[in-house]
Amino acid sequence: MPEFLFFTWQSKRIVSYVPCSFSARICLLSLFKQIPLSNVTNKRQAEAYVNMDVGTTMHNAYVQSAMSRNVDYGNDLVYPGIKRVSRPLCYPWQDKVLSTTNRSGVVTDLNDSPIQVYLIDSTSYGEPAGIWGINCGHSCNVFIPGLSIIRGEVPDKEKNDELYALTQEQRRLEREVRYAKRNAAMADATGDKEAFDAAALRVKRKQADLSAFLKENDLNASVYRSQVVGYNRSVSNAVTASANRQEQERQAQERERQIIAEIKATGIKGRIELHPVIPDVKNLGFDDEHINVERNHNVTREQAETFIKNAKILVTRSNGASQNYYSYEGAAYVNTERMTIATAFSVAEYDEKTRSMMEVLKKHGI
Ligand SMILES: [Zn+2]
Repeated sequence: MPEFLFFTWQSKRIVSYVPCSFSARICLLSLFKQIPLSNVTNKRQAEAYVNMDVGTTMHNAYVQSAMSRNVDYGNDLVYPGIKRVSRPLCYPWQDKVLSTTNRSGVVTDLNDSPIQVYLIDSTSYGEPAGIWGINCGHSCNVFIPGLSIIRGEVPDKEKNDELYALTQEQRRLEREVRYAKRNAAMADATGDKEAFDAAALRVKRKQADLSAFLKENDLNASVYRSQVVGYNRSVSNAVTASANRQEQERQAQERERQIIAEIKATGIKGRIELHPVIPDVKNLGFDDEHINVERNHNVTREQAETFIKNAKILVTRSNGASQNYYSYEGAAYVNTERMTIATAFSVAEYDEKTRSMMEVLKKHGI
């Protein structure tokens, strides 16, 4: 890579001294923050566009400078060099010697082996998807007859195409990560909590998809291709916190569902709520006549209130007309139409099903 490069961005011309392509991207990404989004074609993701643009511009500059310096030295031969995986239009030219002045012929390499020279115009050079085109990544090496040698072996075509398909899938998954991150950054900026929580889960899911794919296929992760402007450390931390919290909530809900299913299995009927909201017992009536005279439950109003306050579970019966609070000391049934404690009894009077229900709660530490 050359030590410095010129960039053009829209009508602006940026001169940037960069040690490597990664910092160039970072530099452009930060510059990009000041450019309105409308300047970018809306179909292409801004980040991807910048990466592609910088990568390609740098690459063009690099290839161009390699070629012209070569010509300055009186040589017109170059070769791309062999990559582990190439795009289809690059593949056939990797180990070929190309003449940038479009002459053909035969030269020799370091080992005096004959080497065919191809006209650069006979290759895919100049096409966006061609050799040294957009997102190509092939280097441009000078070939000096008698001194140079092309090292390495072009990978098997089938193997190359297979790997190429994998990298394409990797790009797709990286795009998904960027979409999710951008939504999270946007929701964070607008303060939309609900959208942020949804986006946070999506970011984590897409990141997990990507890393699973990379691991499964033994591919390398790319930091910059998953980067998004505005998705800084603070957003990233908030995403992790939100995703963790949501996961904990999900686990707690799942656990409650299991406990309720266990309680239902004891034969308890009605709608079950664990950790019920406790009503203001002071506003409730107390049917002393029924509780203590007719039924002889021997429960004071104060005791019934305690049963409700200490309730671990609420079972709603009769279409919501009867709310039955159960504690480890006793139970109180509230008639919601009359706003009255209609009946109350101590734990000693719990029937078998109710005792089993309380056993389940105890077992789960409720
Ligand atoms: Zn290439």
